[in-house]
Parts: sequence; C-alpha cells; structure tokens
Amino acid sequence: MTGRVYNFNAGPAVLPLPVLERAKEELLNFENSGMSVMEMSHRSKEFESILARAENGIRKILGIPEDYAVLFLQGGASLQFAMVPMNLYREGKPVDVLHTGAWTKKAIQELDKLAVYRLAATTESEKFRRLPTRAEIQFNPGASYIHICSNNTIYGTQWREFPDPGDVPLVADMSSDILSRRIDVSRFGLIFAGAQKNLGPAGLTVVILRKDLAEKAGENLTTMMQYRTHIKEKSLYNTPPTFAIYIMYLVMDWIEKEGGLSVIEKRNEEKARLLYNAIDRTGFYYNPCEKKDRSYMNVNFRITGDREDLEAKFVEESKKAGLIGLKGHRSVKGLRASIYNAHPVAGVKSLVDFMDEFQKKNG
Ligand code: PMP
Repeated sequence: MTGRVYNFNAGPAVLPLPVLERAKEELLNFENSGMSVMEMSHRSKEFESILARAENGIRKILGIPEDYAVLFLQGGASLQFAMVPMNLYREGKPVDVLHTGAWTKKAIQELDKLAVYRLAATTESEKFRRLPTRAEIQFNPGASYIHICSNNTIYGTQWREFPDPGDVPLVADMSSDILSRRIDVSRFGLIFAGAQKNLGPAGLTVVILRKDLAEKAGENLTTMMQYRTHIKEKSLYNTPPTFAIYIMYLVMDWIEKEGGLSVIEKRNEEKARLLYNAIDRTGFYYNPCEKKDRSYMNVNFRITGDREDLEAKFVEESKKAGLIGLKGHRSVKGLRASIYNAHPVAGVKSLVDFMDEFQKKNG
C-alpha cells in the first residue's frame, strides 16, 4: 500500500487515498488548463467551476436547502467562535451554550469578549464524560442562538440526537463529525467546520447558514467579519484557499462515488462498533465516556489503572507497527483513535489486532 501508514491523527487527518491519487495526477495540469489549481486565478472560469463543484457536492450530499448559503472561509473553526456572536448576537438576548468540552470552552472564551451568554447545560463537573440529558437542558426561548458542539474531539462524546430548541437558531460546531452521518440541515441556523478532519486539508472553514440570519449583523461590523459579504461575493470577496477547496471537491466526489452519506454512516458505525467492542471486551482497556454518548469519530481509551507507563509503550509500539497518532490529547491523557470518514475499516481491524496482541504481552 505505497508505504502509507494507518493514520489515527485527530486533525489534520487521513484523506481518502483515491483523492490523493487524483490530486497527484492532476497536480501539474488540471483538466488541460496547462497549470496546477494552485497557480490559477481565483477569478478564472476554471476555478469558479471547482468552487461550484465543491459547493454543489456538499449541498447534494447533506441535502442543504435553497435558503441556506455555503461559505468557504479561512481562520479555522476558531474564528467562527467569534464570527458567530459578531453576526448573530443581539443585545438583551443572551446566547445559550451547551458546554460539553474543550471546544465549547474556546467558544465561551470568545463569548466572554463579545456577548452575554448563559450555560443551558454543562457536564463540566463530571469532566465532560457524558453529554447533558434532555431533562438537564434549560433553553431560554429569548436567546439569540444556541451553541452546540456536535462531536467533542477531545473528550470523545457525540450528540446522537440534537436537542430541539424551538424557534431559537441552533448553531453547531461540526468540525469533527461533519459528513460522518446524515443530518437534517433545516434544524440548524448555522453549521461550521474546519475542513481538516472530514472535508479536506487545513486552511479552509466551511460555514452553512440560513441566509436570513446573516442579515442580523450590524452594518458597522468589519467587512471580512460579515457573513453577508461572503454570501454576496460567493466566497470570493478576497482570495479563498483555492487548493483546499479543490481537494474538498475531490472529497465530495469520493463520498458520492462511495454511495453517499448512508454508506459512509454505516461504515463509521461499523468502525466504531469494532473498536468499542475491543475496548470493552476484557477489562484491560476502558473508555471513560458514558456509552450512549460515545463518539464514532474520536475513540478515547485508557489502560485500566490509568497506566501511563503502558500507554506510552502502546504509543511507541503501535507506531512501529504502522499505526500513527494514537496518543491521547494531553488534557485527557491515555489513547485516542480518530477514525474519520477516510479512515479505512482495515485500519481499525489492524488496531484491534494490535490491541489484542499488546494485552497478551502486557496484561
Ligand atoms: N472545534 C472542534 C470540535 C475541533 O475539533 C477543532 C479542532 N480540533 C476546532 C473547533 C478548532 O478548529 P481550528 O483549528 O480549525 O480553528
């Protein structure tokens, strides 16, 4: 397999091999343009077509309604933590936050500077090992919007069903699980995601928003910060990350050729099932999260007794076996396998085999 490893990195992360192969083939001369996509004017017909293909691809795959815009921005998901309140927050209408981990904490840090907010629910006192239950969530019907993180990349939890906020727009950070499953976009006011996990390379941020929400922004908001600008200019107000958008188009094409989101979703369920089964089977490993909230994208596990010595050995030896990126995030320690869309079932099987072997030698 061309010397490639099984890549469990949390992001930037593994990309589909057919996408990389196609990018390689097209690198020097894209569709007889005589140049690489990297060398093209973002105002050229060729690039406009690439941009349209990326947009149409994600629209088709996710079933994005007509009254939603798809924007290709920069600044990462982190800039959205500021851009969302700048555009959607209204005085006297505090933002509701479902605080479920490190990435909602980052969103809160920006809200501290920009808006009034309240926590509609949090599981911080339980170290974010689970998500709030329906009964624990108290939404304010007068909120500007609700902030939720659909998949907590670091703590390894994922909302299986989204809470129903009534008429208040639901704003979701889907950085680490966008396009991993089918969702009903019309239930969200705005969805944002850094591209570097399920969409393509780093440097691109995708924002999907109901167009009328963009009109809430004050006229004095600086031009680049306004969603309105990017809707009006079709993500071409300034130079967008052209090559990252091109790769995203190839990823969208790959998803369609694989059979669309229902196929991807099933495969993700299978990978998660294989891995959690291996973790639960013997008691040598454990997953710290509540079962019903377990992430299908970022699977955290520890060696029982929180054996940091053995976990370090696991990382070391797995690396030698061609399994890369299994060290857990420094804030939760232990081990983490990120198994995004492009991670093959064979990679997960290989990890499960390695886990069994490791246990035999060290258990
Ligand atoms: N939100 C989530 C859920 C993430 O996983 C990340 C990145 N790991 C971010 C936000 C921040 O993304 P970026 O680095 O693109 O700003």
